[in-house]
Order: sequence, then C-alpha cells, then structure tokens
Amino acid sequence: MSEIRQNAATREWVIIAPERARRPRHTFLAMERAIVPAYDENCPFCPGNEEVTPAEIWRLTGEDGWRVRVVPNKYSALSQGAELKRERQGLHQSVTGVGLHEVLIETPAHNRTTAQLPEEHVAEILACARSCYSRAIDDRRIDHVVIFKNHGAAAGTSLTHPHWQIIGLPLVPSQVRGRVEDALRYFDDFGECVYCRMIEDERSSGVRVILETDSFITFCPYASASPYHTWILPKTHAAAFDAITLSELKDLAKNLREVLSRFYHGLEDPDFNLVLRSAPRSHAGVAYYHWYLSIVPHLATPAGFELGTGMFLNASVPEDCAATLRNVVLPER
Ligand SMILES: [Zn+2]
Ligand SMILES: [Zn+2]
Repeated sequence: MSEIRQNAATREWVIIAPERARRPRHTFLAMERAIVPAYDENCPFCPGNEEVTPAEIWRLTGEDGWRVRVVPNKYSALSQGAELKRERQGLHQSVTGVGLHEVLIETPAHNRTTAQLPEEHVAEILACARSCYSRAIDDRRIDHVVIFKNHGAAAGTSLTHPHWQIIGLPLVPSQVRGRVEDALRYFDDFGECVYCRMIEDERSSGVRVILETDSFITFCPYASASPYHTWILPKTHAAAFDAITLSELKDLAKNLREVLSRFYHGLEDPDFNLVLRSAPRSHAGVAYYHWYLSIVPHLATPAGFELGTGMFLNASVPEDCAATLRNVVLPER
C-alpha cells in the first residue's frame, strides 16, 4: 500500500507509491548522454569567447587563465537599470522588471560537471556564489535572491557549459513567502526552528542520511517529492546563505561534490535542478527559517496530478534512495 507523507517544513504532501515503479514503460534511469567535447568554439562560455558575453563582473584567475567567471545574463529576465515602480489598475497589479540576472561560469572546461571538479574548485564556485548573493542583496530594491543550476535538457538548461544562475527579485515570490510563514508558524507553536528539528531527527534515525560532516548534513527528506530528491542543510542555524563562513564553504563543497558524484556514478549522470533556498532580505537573521540546498534529479516528470494539486507522486522510497546513494562506489581520486 502507498503512504502519504508530509514534509514538516514545507507542509507539502507526497504520495510515496513504490508500486508505480513497476508500471510498464517506466524508465528509472537517465537517458544516455551524448558525448560532449572539452571545448566548443560556438559556446559563449568557452575560453576565447569572453567577448561574446556581456562585460564580466568578476573572475577568479588561475595559472592557465580564468577558473570561474561571473557575467550578466545576456538574455536577462530583469534589468538593473530600471526604476522600481509598483502599479495597480483595478484587479491587476504589476511591478517594473527591476532586478539582477547573472551567470556564474563554473569552469573553462565545456564538458566537466560539478561532480567532476576537484573539491577545492567547488569551494571556489560556492565562495563566488556567496559574493554574488551579498552583492545582490546589497541592492535595496532587491528583496529576494535565488541561486540555481540546471543540469541537462530535462532540467531546462539551454547551454551545456556548466554554469549557475543568480536572480535577484524586487519582491518575495508567493512560494517563498509560504515557506517562511510555515516556518514561523512552527516556531510559534513549538519554540524551535523546524529545519533544526529535522536535522536532529535525521541524525538520530540515520536512515535517510547520505553524508554528514562537521558543518553540514545531506539527506533524502522523509517526504521526498521525487526519486533521489536531496537536501543539504547547515547544522548551525542560519536563515540566510551569506552567513556562511570560509570553513563552512569548504565543508559545503565536500557535501555538494560528493552527492553529485554519487548521482553521476550511481544514477548515470541524471539531469537535475539544484536550488539554494535562502531567506528573503526581510527575514535574513530570523530564528525560524533555515537556508538549504535542494537537489532534484529528473528521473520522473511532474504531470497533471502535481500541477492540479501541488502534491507529488513519488514512485520511490526515500530510505531506499538514501541507501542506494550511500552504497555507490566512487572512483579513487
Ligand atoms: Zn563551453
Ligand atoms: Zn534552524
């Protein structure tokens, strides 16, 4: 029989129905990935094409040229030059498209994913993401910053070259607002941060934990919305990402690289979305919200049921997914 589970933090309900995995035509593993060359002369993010991107914001230089670059998104969804104006005409409300949309190019190598980069390089990417975050939130017109990475066509990426995106919004999206309000309600009811409580629970049961280090814990949530859905949480309470210290950045890099390596080697390099969920500016130092990274591999496609209910149907058991990921044998480094 299936089981309907609720995520204590997001309050989202998920039907855990492993029987559905036995459906005909169910494909569990990622599609075979085409061979990608190390360099593509037509790629705007490959070395030699630096002039193709808008003027660079920041770069980390290594012995053989740049290692990480940040540039404005050429096809930006939002504009930094505009004036923030909110309008209301009858029922309809609008805000000018003010904000920031940047691209963090992870590596000069066209074909190397985060899972294949050295841990130190992943730490550099995360340090760069933190400075992008701080710079964005310094703009008083920006209320919320989201950092994400799309890996593979099913995850919505349009460029193969490994990159992250940073978007600063002049408002707090309703889903984010809902998460913060749910966390506040839990704090009011029980006097503790729901995410801190979740960390305690996951550590004591251990069944869904993939990896735990000094400052971070990586696990498949009890009510995982999809197969191998993974969260990485800082063990010390912090509502906003930019509170992270240098040693925590290194520890986060270890967790992130390792879980992505386990996806890469154990699940045949699935497409995935990675999202860094930090508190909106107005909730940056609060005791009730807790920032985290969420990684969602695309091994199943949300369909009408998910769209129509906001609930999810997961054909895998989170405890089994965590065990599978723990058991992946990683190559020697
Ligand atoms: Zn490239
Ligand atoms: Zn917390």
